[in-house]
Amino acid sequence: MDQLVLSHVTKKYKTKTLGEVTAVKDINVSVREGECFSILGPSGCGKSTTLRMIAGFEDLSDGQIFLGGKIVSDKAKNIYVPPEHRGLGMVFQAFAVWPHMNVYNNVAFPLKVAKVPHSEIQPRVEAALKHCNLDGLEKTFPSDLSGGQQQRIALARAIVTNPKVMLLDEPLSNLDPKLRETMRFEIKKLQQEFNFTIIFVTHDQSEAMALSNRMMVMDMGNIQQIGTPTELYNKPVNKFVHSFLGQSNFTTVNIEDGRVFAKGIPQAIPVVAPKKMSGEVLLATRPNTIEINHKEGYKAKIVKRVFLTDFTEYLVGVGDQILRVQTPHRNMFRQGDDCYLKFPSPMWYEKTEENDRERAKRQII
Ligand code: ADP
Ligand code: MG
Repeated sequence: MDQLVLSHVTKKYKTKTLGEVTAVKDINVSVREGECFSILGPSGCGKSTTLRMIAGFEDLSDGQIFLGGKIVSDKAKNIYVPPEHRGLGMVFQAFAVWPHMNVYNNVAFPLKVAKVPHSEIQPRVEAALKHCNLDGLEKTFPSDLSGGQQQRIALARAIVTNPKVMLLDEPLSNLDPKLRETMRFEIKKLQQEFNFTIIFVTHDQSEAMALSNRMMVMDMGNIQQIGTPTELYNKPVNKFVHSFLGQSNFTTVNIEDGRVFAKGIPQAIPVVAPKKMSGEVLLATRPNTIEINHKEGYKAKIVKRVFLTDFTEYLVGVGDQILRVQTPHRNMFRQGDDCYLKFPSPMWYEKTEENDRERAKRQII
């Protein structure tokens, strides 16, 4: 069953200095029950706005939202179910815990507000605390706890109401990298125990890849692609998605009679040109999929060698363009050496006008 459906959801803001900003543009997406679904994209692309509309903190400019098959927001029909009646749990980036309440009272609060019978409150709070590794800290105040523990309080407070859907907006961004990884696993474990659907907002591609069943990449208020982490990594539909997931080389090439040339080099690149493309296009490769060797393939020159922890990275000159190539082998080449390249799985994109200026503007607002 679809747990969450967004249909033609749009949000426009009126700003004093920039006029109207369309934060989210005509989004259509369905999330299945029990799924961990990530919304991924750079700052300003509309992730939080989308999540806030699902939560009911934000009105829609157009479209409809369904939760568990029931309509909760409908602009045209003027339907709006308030956040507390949507059956959601929420955790945000800032450690939003109440400083004047101890751990127990923080977690008990939503149950008291919902007028849950007194006798039920204690066992439910204790179970939530146990699941979030906070048992024993009931009487402690949040200010005496670490960032990770404070975020666990927020998690416990979200799961204590038994939500059907958990909305998480960059919940791990303020934690140090090691703790962030541990918490990813804890969130997954909680999901298995409590069986909720997760909508996880992040700008961190590795976090989204590690957690999600499916993810949606957004840019400037638009959906770019929806799919499993492997689909998105292996078959990105455009340059933006390619560059957002993993590392990318984009080489400007010319397709002439089915042969592919980098600018200023008479040697053809040994790849099969896509039938539908011609003229100047982008050849996209991942640094770790290019094969580099001493005698076979496309001849190029090592411009620089960088030793990194798990691999060596070569910057390889192709005319006036540079390719990054990564290999686990040490000491294969030195700076200035000739090398040969093969491109086993290239992707191709049209050269489109960049939207960089618009993207930068949205990130400043
Ligand atoms: P993200 O969470 O992906 O970083 P947001 O959803 O917060 O992005 O913002 C998307 C766009 O909407 C940005 O350009 C942002 O400046 C704008 N925006 C968000 N909230 C408001 C608001 N309350 N008023 C005006 N503009 C807003
Ligand atoms: Mg945000």
